[in-house]
Amino acid sequence: MSENKKTLQEQLSYQKKNYYETASAEEREAIFAYAEGYKAFLDAAKTEREACDFAVNAAREKGFTEYKFGDPLKPGDKKYFINRGKSVVVFRVGAKDPEEDGFRLIASHIDAPRVDIKQNPLYEEGGMAFLKTHYYGGIKKYQWTAIPLALHGVVVLKDGTKVELRVGEEETDPVFYINDLLPHLGAEQMGGKAAKIIEGEQLNVVVGGLPCGDAETGDKIKLTVLSLLHEKYGMCEEDFLSAELSAVPAFRARDVGFDKALIGAYGHDDRVCAYPALTAVLDNDSAHTVLAMLVDKEEIGSEGTTGIQCKVYEDLMEEISLALGANFRKVRARSKCLSSDVTAAYDPNFAGVYEKMNSAILSCGTALCKFTGARGKSGSNDASAEFVGEIRLAFAKEGVVWQTAELGKVDAGGGGTVAKFVANLNIDTVDLGVPVISMHAPWEVVSKADLYSNYRAFLAFMK
Ligand code: MN
Ligand code: MN
Repeated sequence: MSENKKTLQEQLSYQKKNYYETASAEEREAIFAYAEGYKAFLDAAKTEREACDFAVNAAREKGFTEYKFGDPLKPGDKKYFINRGKSVVVFRVGAKDPEEDGFRLIASHIDAPRVDIKQNPLYEEGGMAFLKTHYYGGIKKYQWTAIPLALHGVVVLKDGTKVELRVGEEETDPVFYINDLLPHLGAEQMGGKAAKIIEGEQLNVVVGGLPCGDAETGDKIKLTVLSLLHEKYGMCEEDFLSAELSAVPAFRARDVGFDKALIGAYGHDDRVCAYPALTAVLDNDSAHTVLAMLVDKEEIGSEGTTGIQCKVYEDLMEEISLALGANFRKVRARSKCLSSDVTAAYDPNFAGVYEKMNSAILSCGTALCKFTGARGKSGSNDASAEFVGEIRLAFAKEGVVWQTAELGKVDAGGGGTVAKFVANLNIDTVDLGVPVISMHAPWEVVSKADLYSNYRAFLAFMK
């Protein structure tokens, strides 16, 4: 190939670049260093409540203070707004006129698929005490058996006191477990459909096995569990009625691969976008007003008081506008949003469901999805060419390594994000997020390069 031809190819053709390959030694170091903070976040924050607490503490450390509706605001203010302890918006008021410039929003979610405990869950059978469950989000149920689980959540006791529970994360803690069938007796099970191998009502969590000496008849193991819960949390069986307890994988975040290029963890979706969103706003000093919106309930449709469809987020933006003396309609019209959620990384082991040219390739940077949805882009926010062009320019200016992506083959399935709900407010929005291997599995994998690229992209967007 002649030199001339090479240049022409470089000039004219689009090629994804592996970020590790193109990064300078210094940048590579930054990629690995950034991942350490992210792993600490993953281990500290396995539920939306814990992620919210983490964000608030991180913000406080950087001098941010709590904002409540009606509070005055001025340029330079660094604030966080807590919604019911399950979602949080961390924001910074910029010097620019919001009517002219709008807000820069990054919206990502902090809930993740898991196995929730039912409201009347405790029983014993076959020498074991169990908690009945109802799974949350789109899981392959068979993946949640035969792995160590931790219990996280809150219980509101009869007298209204709220107690927090987090068992299975410390080295000395016990863990919990969902049984699977031994292969020796699994002939019928293994011949069945994967969706039916383990059914919802079989996702019962083992929580005990020691009979209580005080019990006169029956349910002796259950009584042991109840007395331990009473001792530690002041709980009675009835208090499960007003509890939110979740079984989550007890695994910690770990490096994956001899070269430690990847991270395995529970709940990369969508903490791998929430963490960069949070840190980008904390580290930001731009003249724009910037908001990191860490929301709940994305995995079940963004509903309820903590999902992004709730008016509270719109109210917050309106309150900020009012406090700055700006017309909210004008502010919205000028605002821009990155809906930051994960996408599927191309997986050569399952190549058949991907269309490689338009799939996210691991370590080629954060992935911009112009549209999501299913079938004929159904349920999608399809960002305009103009807005994508604007984002492209911003990334190019800052040398962000990124790639284009859609989830998989056109007819293979699909998925949605919070993008359309933000766009409904008359805010230009596009999806941008980290490619994930084994999305929604109890342990997912991402690339450290893509994580850092996502952070860099957010900084560029807010610059
Ligand atoms: Mn997600
Ligand atoms: Mn998801």
